[in-house]
Amino acid sequence: MVGTVYLVGSGPGDPDLLTVKAARLLETCDVVLHDKLPGPEIIDSLPDERSEDVGKRAGGERTSQAEINERLLELAREGKTVVRLKGGDPFVFGRGGEEAEFLAAHGVPVEVVPAVTSAVAAPAVAGIPVTHRDHASSVSFVTGHEDPTKEESAVDWEALAATGGTIVVLMGVGRLPDYTSALLETGMDPETPVALIERGTWPDQRVATGTLETIVEVRDEADISPPAVTVIGEVASTRETVLEVLQNEVPVDGGE
Ligand code: SAH
Repeated sequence: MVGTVYLVGSGPGDPDLLTVKAARLLETCDVVLHDKLPGPEIIDSLPDERSEDVGKRAGGERTSQAEINERLLELAREGKTVVRLKGGDPFVFGRGGEEAEFLAAHGVPVEVVPAVTSAVAAPAVAGIPVTHRDHASSVSFVTGHEDPTKEESAVDWEALAATGGTIVVLMGVGRLPDYTSALLETGMDPETPVALIERGTWPDQRVATGTLETIVEVRDEADISPPAVTVIGEVASTRETVLEVLQNEVPVDGGE
């Protein structure tokens, strides 16, 4: 009998934001394959003898996607019930779709367990609603991983700016200068509020804010590093009015 692989989202990192189903599967499965994105609290709670870190190898190198796929296949063929634990929602970036396709193509039963994505939750815990009746009636989730100057760039920044809605960038710390310039070049207002939420819902969460024009400097001063989401749009200023009620706030010098 081939075992089932559950592609499970961990949510953004706070263990209380795991779904009931995710928590139950983590308790009952034979083995958990995870990387670092579920955050220290969830990872530390996993039973050592049943969990494998596929984020980094001993040498500090990343395990390749092909190796992860092969390991999932191997475990399923041993008849194991496998949880592939992925940060946030399993199908929002992070290659969950590719893993599901690979397993399905090899006849392995797959079940997807959706979860709270950092694209919504990290802004939310920083006091930023991704939509707001007064500010944004749409929201786009985009990867910041690509070079916006590349001819074949899959992200159309000009079209995104034209929607007037909120833009949430994932994997976008390193290339922040590139896509903020790309947006400024389309004529987007340099005063547009921008927020960076680093390790949202983790115990050491940080938030830094600025504008389209200043945010690169803010990032550098605060030394914001991945994982972090970038929120671009008027909604980012909502944070100021919601600020007083926020918990776990770690202020960052150089914001504003
Ligand atoms: N499936 C994930 C996203 C995977 S891509 C989800 O739904 O959240 C990895 C990117 O997710 C990171 O580079 C970062 O932009 C974002 N991310 C994941 N967890 C985060 C967190 N706790 N706080 C801020 N950003 C996070």
